[in-house]
Amino acid sequence: MISEFSLIQHYFEQITTKRDDVLLGIGDDCALLDCPTDHLLAVSIDTLVADIHFFADVDPQTLGHKSLAVGLSDLAAMGATPAWFTLALTLPNIDEDWLQGFSQGLAKLAQHYNIQLVGGDTTRGPLSISIQVHGHVPTHLALQRSHANIGDIIYVSGTLGDAGAALQMQLKQWHDDRLNDEDTQYLQQRLECPTPQLELGEKLRGIASAAIDISDGLAADLGHILNKSNVGARLDLNQLPLSPALAKIDLQTAQQFALYSGDDYELCFTVPPQHCAQMQTDFKQCTRIGEIVKKIKGSASLIFGTKSQTEIKLADPLILGSGYDHFK
Ligand code: ADP
Ligand code: MG
Repeated sequence: MISEFSLIQHYFEQITTKRDDVLLGIGDDCALLDCPTDHLLAVSIDTLVADIHFFADVDPQTLGHKSLAVGLSDLAAMGATPAWFTLALTLPNIDEDWLQGFSQGLAKLAQHYNIQLVGGDTTRGPLSISIQVHGHVPTHLALQRSHANIGDIIYVSGTLGDAGAALQMQLKQWHDDRLNDEDTQYLQQRLECPTPQLELGEKLRGIASAAIDISDGLAADLGHILNKSNVGARLDLNQLPLSPALAKIDLQTAQQFALYSGDDYELCFTVPPQHCAQMQTDFKQCTRIGEIVKKIKGSASLIFGTKSQTEIKLADPLILGSGYDHFK
């Protein structure tokens, strides 16, 4: 069996490209990193625990990808550019095939976004993966949850509900005969291999007023923007973007997945009206789904209206808390 030292050396030390701003990477007590001037350091950490966040027997390569992708998605939501990450790995035993797959999945995504692994920790215990990502964002241009204003238009990138539908299928709690093998595979890949919206996040600097990545479901995550900004929102359910696969199932179920299931890692963001013309030309992968309105006292912050606005239904106030909560 290989030692902890050679494990780190073999599977983690050289797996990502070397960046000029890493003065000292893996191998000392700390990494030494050079921060650019006129930028803020954006930092975020996520932990994935076996049997809670992923199935322990999932393909290690996709797990490596997802472990880093969820952190990169946080950087995207802040408008930050990835730079460095650290990895705290807890392993029940040393399984070299697993380590090979995991580090490959991790390295491939890291390479793509030019983020370097600069340190970490390796311990023994129930399988769990913590990744802390570091990125840069020009001072004053970070996309914060608290900066949405009344009259701003709400957009989301990509399509919603795919990962949630895949998870329900995997748990055998839901299925729909209208989905063929290709659809199922597509949804599965959306769950296991999310694409962090980093190019979009950077492009939204100076355009979006607020942003968040959708990890817990649109209703819950948009709810965070509303709470932090102290505003309400009116959503047009018919505008929720659905993939061709989810468009095959009944609309109401698809909308439920889009609103309340997580793991899509798309961005939800608000744009002041003066920038909306640009959205149509430069941000074709984004869909307008509603607008920021005044918060109505004693009422839900989220209002669901139909396109004609004739049938306005207030959401259950509990809805805003319905994202995944580990302690509920
Ligand atoms: P220390 O005991 O000083 O914390 P370690 O023996 O834990 O040092 O780690 C040695 C070096 O290897 C450190 O630079 C650390 O950042 C790095 N390292 C440990 N585990 C990992 C890992 N899973 N991925 C990347 N780097 C790691
Ligand atoms: Mg250590």
